[in-house]
Amino acid sequence: MSGPDVAVVGTGPNGLAAGVTLARAGLSVVLHEAADRFGGGLRTTPLFDDDVVHDICSAVHPMAAASRFFREFDLAARGVELLQPEIGYAHPLDGGRAALAHRDLDVTCDLLGPDGKRWRRLMEPLVAHSTGIVDLVLSGGRALPDDWAAPFLLAGRTLAHGTALARGRFATEEADALLAGVAAHAIGRLPSLASGAIAVLLGHLAHASGWPVPRGGSARIAEAMAADITAHGGTFHLGRTITDLRELAGARAVLLDTGVKGLLRIAGDRLPRRYARRLARFRYGPAAAKVDFLVSDAIPWSHPELGRAGTVHLGGTRAEVFRAESLTAAGVAVDDPFVLLVDPGAVDGTRVRPGRRPVYAYAHVPNGDDRDPVELVSGRIERYAPGFRDTVLAARGISGRQFEAYNPNYVGGDISSGAATLVQSILRPTAQLDPYRTPLPGVYLCSAATPPGPGVHGMSGHLAALSVLRREFGVTTPPRLGPDASNA
Ligand SMILES: Cc1cc2nc3c(=O)[nH]c(=O)nc-3n(C[C@H](O)[C@H](O)[C@H](O)COP(=O)(O)OP(=O)(O)OC[C@H]3O[C@@H](n4cnc5c(N)ncnc54)[C@H](O)[C@@H]3O)c2cc1C
Repeated sequence: MSGPDVAVVGTGPNGLAAGVTLARAGLSVVLHEAADRFGGGLRTTPLFDDDVVHDICSAVHPMAAASRFFREFDLAARGVELLQPEIGYAHPLDGGRAALAHRDLDVTCDLLGPDGKRWRRLMEPLVAHSTGIVDLVLSGGRALPDDWAAPFLLAGRTLAHGTALARGRFATEEADALLAGVAAHAIGRLPSLASGAIAVLLGHLAHASGWPVPRGGSARIAEAMAADITAHGGTFHLGRTITDLRELAGARAVLLDTGVKGLLRIAGDRLPRRYARRLARFRYGPAAAKVDFLVSDAIPWSHPELGRAGTVHLGGTRAEVFRAESLTAAGVAVDDPFVLLVDPGAVDGTRVRPGRRPVYAYAHVPNGDDRDPVELVSGRIERYAPGFRDTVLAARGISGRQFEAYNPNYVGGDISSGAATLVQSILRPTAQLDPYRTPLPGVYLCSAATPPGPGVHGMSGHLAALSVLRREFGVTTPPRLGPDASNA
């Protein structure tokens, strides 16, 4: 049976990045997507009113602004505007206090008072070597660094901030909490080496390429990628769930933008038993439980500067964040979970209508948690923004467990597609030299369950596609990814 050169299952940012790379190399590519819309974690849709749209999964894009795949793909040249909030991330504390990570490092340091010098000592060298650090972390640990300072900066700071050594690094609760909020993006026990690495990577990006919000929502990124694929001959089959590899028998190569369980479901009966057993040991982390709000007014923050932040971390002091995250990772359903909030209207006026605007927030909860998160999350916001509840016109909660029904890659609501431990971040999904290749001829995994892991960076899909090009088609020169006459 003749088929396309390549079939891709799933159209999240990694499936799309794989599609872009392979179509750019001149191969015929067909992408299959279970949902009726491409994009996976890059979907933006109206929920309550036709004219107010909400990001269902990702909303803020430090990694899309920085990753090598997207630097080459060049979102800006394709009309995707990454809007930079003046304050990348912020962290309120009781008593109307807040710590603010401004894009401008000098302003951040000034505001941190006695900890300004310490914050500068941590961040300034990272900002100076930002590209090297990003490329090192997002290469999945499999490329020699171009910038030899990067591994030393990364290792030193990961040890300093991902272990018990972190205690006492800052003098003030503000600076301590500001970094703890970023470390919590690891969604797991704190402190940990993985959380230290994430704090170093994401923390400095706010002062470098930024924590932007795409004008109009995250779907704009997916649309630009899908347009590039189509312009290079690729096609999409939407609303098609692939349940068995045999459905793709005509393709010379298959890339799965699925989680590990998805790979086992689709190909399990053909996988060598040893490999399948190793996959079955893959660990999942805590879940996200999300609430989309439609509100009548700007959030009434006790600290007014929070209204200029793209992302706000609600978790209290460093000790409170560490406690809640560690208990959540141990399966305890705490009443005061870490909450991440995005107010897209703070930076994108097109998202706001008179008397109506979206607010996006999710709590970290134990894997498989089935509590309705609306009250849980509203309570956390209310603590730092009294009167918030009075502005809520409508709210929709998705529990951790429901996230898996929305997207099977988020097992038990684990939006990282696998626990972000240090080992599992590098040896993902199992220990092997080429993590994208499966033992089945021509079958590859390309999702966030492969290095470099979660986030919208496109690198798992891109690196998997380069492996396919090399091994299955003998192509060793990576294709050019920038806009060309067909889609610029
Ligand atoms: C609530 C939430 C908030 C997040 N916030 C951010 C953020 O702000 N910034 C950021 O960088 N990242 C964020 N992330 C993480 C980011 O969205 C993911 O890491 C990223 O989308 C993973 O990309 P992927 O391509 O590997 O998989 P996904 O985006 O999960 O896409 C996989 C696709 O494959 C499809 N699929 C699966 N199985 C099949 C099958 N058998 N047949 C056909 N199709 C199938 C699914 O329907 C889905 O469309 C967030 C995630 C969530 C859920």
